[in-house]
Amino acid sequence: MTSGSATLNTTIYGEAPHTVLVRNDWTQAEIASIYHTPLMDLMYRAASVHRAFHNPLAVQQCTLLSIKTGGCPEDCGYCPQSAHYETGVQSEKLLNTDTVVTAARLAREGGSTRFCMGAAWRDVKDNAQFDQVLDMVKQVGAMGMEVCVTLGMLNQDQAHRLKDAGLTAYNHNLDTGEQFYDKIISTRTYKDRLETLKNVRIAGINVCCGGIIGLGETAEDRVDLIHTLCTLPEHPESVPVNALVAVKGTPLEEQQPVEVWQMVRMIATARIAMPKAMVRLSAGRVSMSLAEQALCFFAGANSIFTGEKLLTTSNCDFDEDKQMFELLGLEPLEPLRTVVV
Ligand code: SF4
Repeated sequence: MTSGSATLNTTIYGEAPHTVLVRNDWTQAEIASIYHTPLMDLMYRAASVHRAFHNPLAVQQCTLLSIKTGGCPEDCGYCPQSAHYETGVQSEKLLNTDTVVTAARLAREGGSTRFCMGAAWRDVKDNAQFDQVLDMVKQVGAMGMEVCVTLGMLNQDQAHRLKDAGLTAYNHNLDTGEQFYDKIISTRTYKDRLETLKNVRIAGINVCCGGIIGLGETAEDRVDLIHTLCTLPEHPESVPVNALVAVKGTPLEEQQPVEVWQMVRMIATARIAMPKAMVRLSAGRVSMSLAEQALCFFAGANSIFTGEKLLTTSNCDFDEDKQMFELLGLEPLEPLRTVVV
């Protein structure tokens, strides 16, 4: 069971001080009511919960590297790596281990404490490529970084092998609410996703699971997604909140960008519903101003992806992020790992 509590020493106007419990028995109506709270109250409440559970100045920097790009058999409507769409992304082979370890070292030198590796696979196969990924996990972990991978669906045995290799977290996003899911992806089901999340959890690996807004979903679909996440037997340790980066050639190429207020609402609701999670301000950050990003941090985001690319789409540059940290008085979070070689 998810557990924990903290007392808020700041309260919403008219509210008595109260204890915030980490709960996984939220109702859909409760999450909807949080999501639709007037924005100023919502941000204040989320900021208060954030401060009760985290150092609000500490923001984790993660770097994401695509270790196997393109040619994916899945048909996720937002993804330029799907083989179903003509997006100009070529199918490449798995990167060699030395290239990946060098990229991890550079990321660490740039202040990153978590290194995430993504492969455009439908699922993990027990083959030499998986053995190579296990080796990458071992080597990056030995550098003292937290290591995360996203490799598609995996079974319990594969999850255990990743755990034994030293994996910190497995990313597997639910993307959107269950009712809307089949409008975006037809090659797998929501149940498949939940099954992989269960296998990851059983193996003792931290879960990184969130979604994307701006796919054409309604506010109810967003509430649905957060409700599913915050009623899992244990909350994901990390919840990425992405804004769609519409890529030409994908079915969602015409989608209009989401407003920052929608990102803030999503981040704040996730923060309140899952107080202990790292809430990651992920894709879409590149088109946000510094002031907009500051709002997201205030609303409870405490992690970002740094580095030029987010898999195949562009991201903010290291130097700009450094300046932003200085200006806002943010500090990079130390990795949870202690082994440094
Ligand atoms: S999001 Fe992942 S699973 Fe879906 S098409 Fe892209 S690479 Fe494949």
